Amino acid sequence: MKKPDRYAVLGNPIAHSLSPEIHRSFARSLGESIVYEKLEVPIGGFSDFVDSLIEQGYKGCNITLPFKMEAYKYAERLTVRARGCGAVNTLIFGSRVTGDNTDGAGFVADVTGRFGFPIEGSSILVLGAGGGVRGLLPSLLELNPKWIAVANRTMERAEALASSFGIDAIAYEETAAEHFDLIINATSTSLSNLAPPVPKAAFAEASLAYDLVYAARPTPFMELALKSGARKAVDGLGMLIEQAAESYADWRGVRPDTGSTYGEIRSLLENRAASAAAARP
Ligand code: NAP
Repeated sequence: MKKPDRYAVLGNPIAHSLSPEIHRSFARSLGESIVYEKLEVPIGGFSDFVDSLIEQGYKGCNITLPFKMEAYKYAERLTVRARGCGAVNTLIFGSRVTGDNTDGAGFVADVTGRFGFPIEGSSILVLGAGGGVRGLLPSLLELNPKWIAVANRTMERAEALASSFGIDAIAYEETAAEHFDLIINATSTSLSNLAPPVPKAAFAEASLAYDLVYAARPTPFMELALKSGARKAVDGLGMLIEQAAESYADWRGVRPDTGSTYGEIRSLLENRAASAAAARP
């Protein structure tokens, strides 16, 4: 009998990753059999590690922090969207190694599909100027928004990002005087239980506030957004699942339906948080 195809997510640290549960759920829903592991890669050892996966017959892998740039360099050819982002989150092993970036497509699928937000013609504020933003911008720009502005704690990084993507950099305090339909938190502040320093007035017209971070409970950014007048605030679990579905399609030629997986993984996140709370002294 043919052994199931093998995949993995590579990162450091990696213990927190939900990717194995997501991909196993996709495979179950499609009646396919795959093996998907999470593997911690030593810093400085990325290419040797991927070489060894290829030798062992793996079919592909996902890449998370801090290796997305190294994966970009490792790939022998790149999809258009990976080239646009300058980072790779999916490697496909074949006669040549292809690098793709599914983060932007995953974000767009979640925002437009799950939450019904129309990006075309909208005014968008992006908070943060790290790798996550670079992954999103090409897919957002493709959909012809009216305006994208980026605010960041370190203004020079916002300016550099804005000039490479042809969008505007804006100081946090200046956002209060503008109108935004969608505000995206792509800072890592929620991981420290903080909201980014965006003035409440920036949310006044927002129909959607989207935190790339996901959690069992509303994040500080989501709470700030709702308190400040945003009509809806959501976390990034849907993006995580949609980008995984795009990777699955890269490897296996079929994009899984994500509805049931979203429900399963949301429950898993809540159960894990409840177990962690119960274990606290
Ligand atoms: P990153 O490259 O480390 O960038 C972090 C950003 O947060 C920088 O712009 C940084 O500003 C800003 N920041 C950090 N602490 C801050 C503070 N106290 N106040 C204001 N700004 C602060 O991270 P990334 O790769 O872009 O990822 C950002 C977040 O998105 C992460 O939490 C990640 O987990 C999440 N993410 C989620 C998905 C998903 O599928 N849902 C996908 C990708 C990323 P400076 O430039 O001033 O340092």
